[in-house]
Amino acid sequence: MARGTAPALQGARRIAELPPYLFAEVDRRIAEKRAQGHDVISLGIGDPDLPTPEHIVRVLEETARQPANHRYPDYYGLRELRVAIADWYRERFGVELDADTEVLPLIGSKEGIAHLATAWVDPGDLVLVPDPGYPVYSIGTMLANGEVYWLPLRAENGWLPDLKAIPADVARRARVLWLGYPNNPTAAVAPIEFFEEVVDFAWEHGILVCHDNAYSEVAYDGYRAPSFLQVDGAREIGIEFHSLSKTYNMTGWRIGMVVGNRTAIEALGRVKTNVDSGIFQAVQYAGIAALRGDQSWLEGRNQHYQRRRDAVLTTLNRIGLAAPTPRASLYVWGPVPRGAKSVDFSLRLLDETAVWITPGVGFGPAGEGYFRISLTTPDDRLKEALARLERFRL
Ligand SMILES: *Cc1c(COP(=O)(O)O)cnc(C)c1O
Repeated sequence: MARGTAPALQGARRIAELPPYLFAEVDRRIAEKRAQGHDVISLGIGDPDLPTPEHIVRVLEETARQPANHRYPDYYGLRELRVAIADWYRERFGVELDADTEVLPLIGSKEGIAHLATAWVDPGDLVLVPDPGYPVYSIGTMLANGEVYWLPLRAENGWLPDLKAIPADVARRARVLWLGYPNNPTAAVAPIEFFEEVVDFAWEHGILVCHDNAYSEVAYDGYRAPSFLQVDGAREIGIEFHSLSKTYNMTGWRIGMVVGNRTAIEALGRVKTNVDSGIFQAVQYAGIAALRGDQSWLEGRNQHYQRRRDAVLTTLNRIGLAAPTPRASLYVWGPVPRGAKSVDFSLRLLDETAVWITPGVGFGPAGEGYFRISLTTPDDRLKEALARLERFRL
């Protein structure tokens, strides 16, 4: 068949309308710098460089050999995994969960965070999203044709959203409130009193609270992060996302969970049974080993991050870029020099030192004026990066 001009294919509007990826230009600049022969060290990525503990890897090795694990897993995860998650929540937070209706394993929590809107948000529904924040909260909303209402986080409010500043008509229309403490990118932690305020707000307006607790086990100086579900009345209006990624250095394994309100868990479960087929069963057994195994190694791992944190803070102080000391998370979040734009500052640093730090504005407009440094760079590379920063003149 003779064909004329090829048709102009086009993706969905909802994809075209996603906000531009701010870091596309930045990635190009980093690649350019590398192509010029510079040894660029990125302090931008929040992905643990330290290995998954041996006792977890060993279970994967063993269970990967069993043919029973080569088949489709159960949609809702192995019951043993759900029970292990419920036991871990009881042990760690004193939160009681029903393993059959209040626990759902995820293929990494990002997957569940992104799918939540498909389960809960109709086109045009309003979703309250912190700015700055983890991008998946807003992108998931947009992919479901929901409408994002931004909640600016500010230093003077401890990087917590001001719920009283939300207009009454917005609160009335809102379907979901996203939160995450210990926070990415600001490294802020939330006092339990704030969660109590959130529960009151959600009860009043019938809003589903989605709390992202990815960093609860990465904490310093003895700090113990709470679960949102510890608050009385939380499970009636809320769910909590959690992940083995940051807790057990398992980002590549893709295993996480959501727990709490059973109506929301059921809705998300229904979406998932239609779009995925669960987590490789050997990874689920490894996850059980992680949750049930020795937790004392976490302390040493966190001390390792804490030494890096302190080294970063010392260097920042020496060059006049004082940042607050984070009590949890994998990040140092601090202000760029007065008057500078965060992207300009990061690019200048890249140009002059071949060290990359993330501009705060990449996490939302309210992140302008800040930078984020990740603590997941191997020690020798971090040391080299800090030596370069010490030679940097603001
Ligand atoms: C890393 C991270 C996650 C977890 O991602 P996984 O998909 O479980 O690997 C979730 N929320 C935030 C804020 C994160 O930084």
